[in-house]
Amino acid sequence: MTTILMLGGTAEAVTFARCLAGKFDVIYSLAGRTRTPTLPDCALRVGGFGGVDGLMSYVRETGISAIVDVTHPFAAQMAANARAAAALAGVPLFKFLRPAWDEPSDAPWLHAATASDAARIIDGRFGRVFLSSGLGDIAAFAPLSTIWFLVRSVDPSNVPAVLAQHHHLTSRGPFDLAAETALLSDWHIDALVSKNSGGQATIAKLHAARALGIPVVMIDRPPVPPGNLYTDIATARHAIRRFFQ
Ligand code: NAP
Repeated sequence: MTTILMLGGTAEAVTFARCLAGKFDVIYSLAGRTRTPTLPDCALRVGGFGGVDGLMSYVRETGISAIVDVTHPFAAQMAANARAAAALAGVPLFKFLRPAWDEPSDAPWLHAATASDAARIIDGRFGRVFLSSGLGDIAAFAPLSTIWFLVRSVDPSNVPAVLAQHHHLTSRGPFDLAAETALLSDWHIDALVSKNSGGQATIAKLHAARALGIPVVMIDRPPVPPGNLYTDIATARHAIRRFFQ
């Protein structure tokens, strides 16, 4: 059977891997950042490949026929490596990217290019901030010692300890509007920092912030490497099946 390397770490990757299993041998790859990831029922490998050359060697040595990149929209390094390694190894790359969230016209976002940019925007402007942008870039907010942060992540972690004042919640989406509204109200949040991750699982925080009139600082997506891009799983699956007919 044709072997596909799926670069995962998202809910869509798990769904996608399950869709392809049976027709293809799928190897599901994770960076290994999350202690208790959701997994599809297929072969699993965990950890970095060692850059473009490492990925290219893995593809050749394992007999991979295609790379399917279903990583998070902010996993820019992995996306670039996948494109370069696929070209060098001579295998096709299918990239899935969930659509970004749209900015509401009646509640414009404060746009940030990076987490450091978001930190500059909230500095001196807000006092109680829901930091929902993940733990990866949390060090960018460490200098803001006068701001109290509510931090939420899938894994329990000591990372928020870099923040002078914070409360850390451990929970996994999807989150609903009632719960997100209660969260923002109960903790007296006056600003929300988010990445433009897109998708339905975590969008309720944006609806809750809008309903409560809480400003949103949105970290915009990194650029997408050029090439074939699919924004829904059914179309991507169809393209892969057609390619290997
Ligand atoms: P990144 O900055 O683009 O990648 C950094 C390095 O991590 C890559 O060069 C690669 O190491 C390794 N890596 C990343 N994804 C991998 C995968 N699926 N399988 C094997 N190695 C991988 O990535 P990131 O933003 O740290 O994200 C890491 C993982 O978390 C990804 O699977 C992503 O889908 C998931 N995730 C990220 C976010 C986010 O906000 N960034 C949110 C939710 C989930 P080598 O160069 O050694 O190969």
